[in-house]
Amino acid sequence: MKILVTNDDGIDSPGIHALVHALRTIGHVTVVAPDRQQSAVGHALTVSSPLRAIPFHRDGEMFGYAINGTPADCVKLGISSLLTAKPDLVVSGINHGANTSINILYSGTVSAATEAMMMGIPAIAVSLTSFSYDADMSGAADYATRIAQQMTSYNLPKGTLLNVNVPAIPAGLLKGMRFTQLSKSMWEDKYEKRYDPMEREYYWIRGTYHTIEADGNTDDGAVAEGYVSVTPIHYQLTDIHTLQSLRAL
Ligand code: MN
Repeated sequence: MKILVTNDDGIDSPGIHALVHALRTIGHVTVVAPDRQQSAVGHALTVSSPLRAIPFHRDGEMFGYAINGTPADCVKLGISSLLTAKPDLVVSGINHGANTSINILYSGTVSAATEAMMMGIPAIAVSLTSFSYDADMSGAADYATRIAQQMTSYNLPKGTLLNVNVPAIPAGLLKGMRFTQLSKSMWEDKYEKRYDPMEREYYWIRGTYHTIEADGNTDDGAVAEGYVSVTPIHYQLTDIHTLQSLRAL
């Protein structure tokens, strides 16, 4: 199996390292990932400046291509120009921090998988519910690998991707996998006002996450109960119901 791996936390993040290490046991992995932190860039593309693919080494060997662009750029550039063959699977992650509820719209991790889905390639986004760079990624890497392996026999519909969230608890305590829908949870955003050394004010976003309608059948609920949440995501953006009602006017 040929697997393209990317992320949004940057090619040097511990999450992508753990993912690549695990996926190499089941397939041939190529890494094309942003050269810096790109969290919450959503599905942005770089159109006004050139992209460069710089070989990135880790532990003395070639790890992948570092791109001065977004996660969606990495998937597009990787598949169109860097890989010698179309991958069988694209895996994005392991993200440092959950990607649940409507907030997946902001996620660079999920958007990389969305880009692959748009290109007709099976795709998985994987996130661990901890922002810590010291977090134990072994459970998430293990589940990502098991799900990736099952993708070879399961025919994921074109136009659907899998969004996986893994609770940040010791791997041995994970209760298994649960298939879920997005919860209705929301961030309540606040912009903290601070002052720079020149005494000019600046703002930094700081939110509180409110869990709403997050029972055990939802992503946030399953994760809270110690399950690995797997949500099938598709993007049918036309509101068919309102379309029909407008046409009936
Ligand atoms: Mn991220």
